[in-house]
Amino acid sequence: MKLVRFGEAGRERPGLVDAQGRVRDLSGLVPDITGTTLSSDALSRIRQTDPSSLPVAPAGQRLGACVGHVRNFIAIGLNYADHAAETGAAIPAEPIVFNKAPSCIVGPNDDVVIPRGSQKTDWEVELAIVIGERASYVGANEALDFVAGYCVCNDVSEREFQIERGGTWTKGKGCPTFGPLGPWLVTKDEISDPQNLSMWLDVNGERMQNGSTKTMIFNVAQIVSYVSHFMILEPGDVITTGTPPGVGMGMKPQRFLKAGDVVSLGIEGLGEQRQRVVAFEGNPADTSKSWKGH
Ligand code: ZN
Repeated sequence: MKLVRFGEAGRERPGLVDAQGRVRDLSGLVPDITGTTLSSDALSRIRQTDPSSLPVAPAGQRLGACVGHVRNFIAIGLNYADHAAETGAAIPAEPIVFNKAPSCIVGPNDDVVIPRGSQKTDWEVELAIVIGERASYVGANEALDFVAGYCVCNDVSEREFQIERGGTWTKGKGCPTFGPLGPWLVTKDEISDPQNLSMWLDVNGERMQNGSTKTMIFNVAQIVSYVSHFMILEPGDVITTGTPPGVGMGMKPQRFLKAGDVVSLGIEGLGEQRQRVVAFEGNPADTSKSWKGH
């Protein structure tokens, strides 16, 4: 199934994409697409419903992030051997784990805001894992049982904040709008091999990233298992799994996003995102702005 959340920021409704590509309104069945609706039992109840019995959502609706009320938004750094090489970093012996602030999560086509004072806002197309069952100390052999599905994530990053301002990477990873998720949460039964998905990212129509989840250093099962040894993973938590080569930081000369740029990205089977890049203005805590929405 392809699950979506549609409607204005902060007031999204749950939906399901039918075989014709139309969004069907699931709000008669579940209140939202969140951790509580992602267990295998809850998903099988949705699966048993005939999509044609559900109302079609009005056309042209904004899509929100495909999962709401995310409690932990975890990311894996330098997880593609060829991306580690372009940044000049050694291949990590164990996964690099860092946090993205859940408040950075936005819809797949919402604007990306360049943070105040930023000179080095960058892009990263990534496969994100959405957790479906509470996971603690799980083995890699059973780890996929705890996964609900997958989505596209743009792990938007500010390289000066991340690397030049001291401490961990967190400062450059959780700025408002730095976590577009979606368009769909694709349940894992639709993705036969998460380690064989092509992925791409364009800036203003120019191909920047072109990769495959084949070249991950640590695979999805290893990542879920690994992270579960350091924290309890809750249903609805998101782990984004690293990016292939082609980020702006790795280019010679380096290239970063500016207001007016358009970023589009996608992963095979998981759909596409498109973000307009805008300058910082006003207060990102303003609830009338789209970046407030999960
Ligand atoms: Zn990343």
